[in-house]
Order: sequence, then C-alpha cells, then structure tokens
Amino acid sequence: MDFRFTEAQEKFRQEVRSFLDRELPSDWVGYLGCTTGDHVSDVSDGWQVFKDIARKLGEKGWLSLFWPKEYGGQAWPFVDCLVFFEEVARRGSPGYNPIAVKMLAPTLIDYGTEEQKERFLKPMARGEEFWCEAFSEPGAGSDLASLQARAVKDNDYFILNGQKTWSTFANYADWCCLLARTAPDSTRSRGLSFFLVDMKTPGVTVSPIKNLAGEPSFCEIFFEDARIPAENILGDENDGWKVAQSLLGYERTSIEFIAMVKSVIERVAGYMAANPRLRSEHSRQLLAKLAIDTEVGRLMNYRVAWLHDKGLPADWPAAMAKLHTTELYKRAASTAMQLLGLYGQLDKKDAMAPLQGWIEQLYLVSYGGTIAAGTSEIQRNIIALRGLGLPRS
Ligand SMILES: Cc1cc2nc3c(=O)[nH]c(=O)nc-3n(C[C@H](O)[C@H](O)[C@H](O)COP(=O)(O)OP(=O)(O)OC[C@H]3O[C@@H](n4cnc5c(N)ncnc54)[C@H](O)[C@@H]3O)c2cc1C
Repeated sequence: MDFRFTEAQEKFRQEVRSFLDRELPSDWVGYLGCTTGDHVSDVSDGWQVFKDIARKLGEKGWLSLFWPKEYGGQAWPFVDCLVFFEEVARRGSPGYNPIAVKMLAPTLIDYGTEEQKERFLKPMARGEEFWCEAFSEPGAGSDLASLQARAVKDNDYFILNGQKTWSTFANYADWCCLLARTAPDSTRSRGLSFFLVDMKTPGVTVSPIKNLAGEPSFCEIFFEDARIPAENILGDENDGWKVAQSLLGYERTSIEFIAMVKSVIERVAGYMAANPRLRSEHSRQLLAKLAIDTEVGRLMNYRVAWLHDKGLPADWPAAMAKLHTTELYKRAASTAMQLLGLYGQLDKKDAMAPLQGWIEQLYLVSYGGTIAAGTSEIQRNIIALRGLGLPRS
C-alpha cells in the first residue's frame, strides 16, 4: 500500500493548476456547484467563459481522460482522473460537464451503437456540446421508477409527452438524457427506454427555477408531442432502467465536494489570518475538525475510484463517500458562516461581504448536495441493505 500520489500524478496536478491560473478570468470567484455556474452571472457573459474553457480543456484531452483510446480517450485509470476533477472543483472552474464527461460518455461506450458513439462522443470530448440529465419528475425523485413521462412509437419516431424537473442547467443544454415509459401497460422499472434528446426539438420547453441563492441553476422541462428519432434510444427499447442505473453509478464519485471543502478551509483560514479579531481557540478547533473529516472523505473517494479501476463492486462504498462528503460540505458551509460572524451573511453584491460573499452563497447552495444524486436517506438505505446486508422490512 502506498498513500502517495505518483510523480506523474503530481506533475499532472501542477499542470492543471497552471492551466487554470492562466485561463480563468482574473475576476473569477469560483463556481459553487461542482460543475457549472452559480457564479455565471458574476462575470460578463459567464456562459461564454464556460464554453471557452470547455473547448480548451477538450484540446488538452482532459475531457476524455478515462475513456478507451478507440473512442478518442486517454485510457487513464479513474484514480488519475480524480486528480483532474479535484483541481477543477478546487478552483470552481467552468468548462467541465460531468453529466457528459463522467457519466453519459462511459454509458454510451457500454450501450451505444457505433453510430451513436461516433455522433456524440467527439463533441463531448471537444467540449462542444453541453448535456443535462432529466430523470426527476414532480412525482418521481427518490422513487424514480414511478416516473410518468411517456413515449409512443410512430414509425421511426417516438412521440414524447411529460414533465421533468430539477434538471441542472437544462437552460444551457444542447442535449439531454432521460427515461420515458415506452411499454404502454408497464409499471415501475419495466418498460422504460433511455432517450438522447436534442433540446432544440419542437415541443421541448425549458423553464428555469431559482435555487435558494437566487440563481437559475436547475429547470423544469416540458415535452409536448416532441418527436424523438427511434435511433436516439440508448440500449434496448423498454430496457432503459439498466442503462440509467449504469449512468447513475458513475455519478456517485463525489471528490468535487471534498475539493470545495478544502477550498472553504483555505479561504476561511486565510481570512482569519488577516483578521485577528476572528482568531480563537474555538475557531481553530472547528477548522481542525473539518480538516480531519475532509481527509477521511478524500480517502473514501479515491478508494471508490480504485475499486472502479480494479473492476470491484463500488456501489455501497460510493454511497458512503457521497453521504459523508455532501454532509461534510453542508457542515463546512455552516461552520464557515459561523466563523465569519454577522458579516458572513452579506450578499456577494455587498462591498463589505467577506470573501466576496462566497461563503454566504455556499451556505445557501450547500443543502442541495445532500439531495441531488440521491438523498442522504437513500444513501443510508443503500449502505444498510447492500453493505450491511440488513433485510428490507
Ligand atoms: C441541486 C440539485 C440538483 C439536481 N439536479 C438534477 C438533475 O440534473 N437531474 C435530475 O433528474 N434531478 C436533479 N435533481 C433532483 C434530485 O435527483 C431529487 O431531488 C432527489 O432524487 C430527491 O427527489 P425528490 O426531490 O422528489 O424528493 P423525494 O424523493 O420526494 O424525497 C422527500 C424526502 O423523503 C425522503 N425519502 C424518500 N424516499 C425514502 C426512502 N425510501 N427511505 C427514506 N427516506 C426517503 C428523502 O430522503 C427526502 O428527505 C437535483 C436536485 C438538487 C437538489
């Protein structure tokens, strides 16, 4: 067992850091989601910044690091890729679309036809097309199998009707992936198909929802008689649940949240060093505790990546890592808010807001991490049932 990163991994980490230092706008405060932009509106034309950085990351080959070489990837171990995910999140960098790069691409490689791989993987690797995930519905979140969206076959097309919700950055997406019921009398997870949908299809309407911080970071999507080509089903018709499970399995590596918590510790420690009135024994205790839990979470996430590289089952260790990491992220935001005192509550637009209001925003969005990609209760269920082998009551 060796707990050090290799020389090559350290070199790559430095390369990513230097790239981000060079390429990010000088006024870049940092995204608070791990991915795209709660701070899009803070710089002029933030979405353009996202797209520019995405293309540059694509040119570097960093958006396809762990994909097989025959599909334009670098065939790196997943552990090495975590170094990249970690550095991007540490700087709150735009340009990285995990739904495409980390989740859909490997699922496409497993289940896609050669035509689908040819059509979709290259633009993802070049950072040219942005994807969103549209699984949740108003009545189907944790219990995804109860979803109601329906697609009815019409020659070479499916006519899609239904409503999705909470779809992160659907307002910017070129494409979305979703599940809809295609077998008329089916129930639960049977009879669903996994679709790849062009967001420009007539009958697709996107309506952004503001999050707690007032940012339009997720959306409702309405499908009204949208005609989706049958060739855009990924995997077999009526067998989409399996495909969705594969995709969601890739979602639960949560190293990005750890990078964010490290960033909280660094920024708050720096702020306290510059503001002696905030220094106290209590604050040192709180930051030290966060630092320990961050290290635990980091090891949990690298272990999940290692299990993945070894082809070993990683579902409940991934659930443990997701649970630990997102609960820690929420606690880090709350601790930071406490340590900054009343000024910490000032909005990012207020000139007196410490750390440009970053902590206030973080506090407001941090709750979402424990809900998205499976709530903390659902993660505990996975750990109890699959990890501890407890019976369902
Ligand atoms: C920031 C954010 C981003 C998101 N992005 C996306 C996205 O891009 N695409 C997408 O499709 N969805 C997205 N979601 C939606 C997310 O997947 C759902 O919110 C989540 O699955 C929970 O579903 P729900 O909101 O319907 O709550 P519910 O499932 O109704 O849960 C309500 C409460 O009941 C608890 N509960 C439910 N079932 C059980 C059970 N079996 N055992 C114990 N407790 C239970 C839950 O833990 C929760 O506390 C996002 C959500 C957030 C917060």
